Amino acid sequence: MTESQSFPAPATASAPGVKPMDAIMALCKRRGFVFQASDIYGGINGFWDYGPLGAQLKKNLRDAWWQDMIMNPCWGRKGPNGERVRCVPLETCIIQHPRTWEASGHVSGFNDPMVDCKETKGRYRYDHVMVYVPAGGEAGDKPVFAYVGDQPSESKQKKKAEKTFGAVRSVPLSSIPQPWARVIGPDAEKPGTLTEPRMFNLMFDTISGAIRDEANKVYLRPETAQGVFLHFKNVVDSTRVKLPFGIGNTGRSFRNEVTPRNFTFRSREFEQAELEFFCHPDESLDWYRFWRDFRMEWWKSIGLAGENLILREHDKDELSHYSQGTSDVEYRFPFTAPGFGELEGIAHRGCYDLTQHQTHSKVKLDYFDTTRGETLPNGGKKGERYIPHCIEPAAGLDRGALALICEAYTVDASRPSPEFLKLHPRVAPIKAAVFPLVDKDGMPEVAERLADDLFARFGRHGFIETDPKQSIGKRYARMDEAGCPFCFTVDGDTLKDQTVTVRDRDTGSQQRIAIDKVPGFLGERLGS
Ligand code: ATP
Repeated sequence: MTESQSFPAPATASAPGVKPMDAIMALCKRRGFVFQASDIYGGINGFWDYGPLGAQLKKNLRDAWWQDMIMNPCWGRKGPNGERVRCVPLETCIIQHPRTWEASGHVSGFNDPMVDCKETKGRYRYDHVMVYVPAGGEAGDKPVFAYVGDQPSESKQKKKAEKTFGAVRSVPLSSIPQPWARVIGPDAEKPGTLTEPRMFNLMFDTISGAIRDEANKVYLRPETAQGVFLHFKNVVDSTRVKLPFGIGNTGRSFRNEVTPRNFTFRSREFEQAELEFFCHPDESLDWYRFWRDFRMEWWKSIGLAGENLILREHDKDELSHYSQGTSDVEYRFPFTAPGFGELEGIAHRGCYDLTQHQTHSKVKLDYFDTTRGETLPNGGKKGERYIPHCIEPAAGLDRGALALICEAYTVDASRPSPEFLKLHPRVAPIKAAVFPLVDKDGMPEVAERLADDLFARFGRHGFIETDPKQSIGKRYARMDEAGCPFCFTVDGDTLKDQTVTVRDRDTGSQQRIAIDKVPGFLGERLGS
């Protein structure tokens, strides 16, 4: 039976200072940011769709990534080699030759350990399950209560555990001796219903072609990066790119996550924006540091506050054998607080991927660098052949959009409509609203003309809303919830002195400006 999911999540008390996730999810549905996929059939676990505002928010995020990573990488900054950073785009299929995933290691190694609950039929990541035990001592033969690691701390299981033990602490399920006869699964009532952990491959498979046999089995990609490695040679041969350069690829990826959770944070279908940046091995550490630092700055530039964002450098023992460094940009989501959840990983991948594909495909994927090697008598270089190293900033657009929404969500009880979204103007799906104060006396016509003008200039970046009905307060409140940064209101004075009111979403303050200055005012603030 297909697993369904509930929306919004059951209300959970959040710790002081932590934004309420259930209210954020409710706003997302109410204002058309996120809907559960197959909503009218009860939803399907691990899949989310974007409503009109969410689709545009995500497009703005994708466009910002595309612009700042590919078209004008790093805002025109010079890289560690002193030159402008060069990148090109690519768009690759979700389904690739199945040997791709053998070479990349996903067939043999892309596994998570899972445990099943025989009572509830729930399935959990073994390494995410924690159990509550007495704070200071032994549980003896009393039952211990399992929960899933990043759940809100005030879970039902915690309350039950506190009833049994008083104060409790959490330890990983893996530290409880086998069999777990005393463990009460995360959603279970009786102890001893969890199975032993089993490895579970996260790739979705399907059949390509009319005959349903093993030979026609293909996989839905679990990441966009591999498509880039397969075309490294094609890109070098078909364009004039020279190392160092990057290839960007965005698109849907699929992982059959054991326990999809936390709204869109861990879904089974999601969108990635990945850059594979190829360079000479000797320069790779400098490029790794360069990208790591730029990516952190970039997330801040589109509205994530410094204190909710950290760059976590992986310890040496966390690194893959081929990697000289990996860091994660992590955001403090309401459901991970006080901890953080990964938004993007920046990995030094060495020459691992190109070497793997070269070995499996028997096609040479090295690069002949005419700028290196011994100097020839004519002053030119002899050239050097090598397999480039690769630095990979791999971002998730759904986690990005979710972080933007969580960061923007603000409650100010002193406002007539307390909830609003302080989205950065660059990503806000509605760029501006134009309202006639009342739906008569020539005001709607003036508002309509101004809206047409703004639409012509800024419509490619997002919506320009108009709405002549309801009280002006209600119209402002609706725009605040949708994250629209500016509302322009045409009133009686406009007809006399050609000025309009500009209302700022974040402060609620209003000022008057000349109607013909409105496009310039908005353009400056939208950065376009
Ligand atoms: P996690 O440890 O959270 O499972 P990961 O390290 O496996 O993530 P990567 O393989 O580095 O993730 O993928 C790059 C990015 O893709 C992540 O930083 C994240 O933003 C996004 N991503 C990965 N898995 C999911 C998912 N199941 N749902 C939504 N986004 C995801």
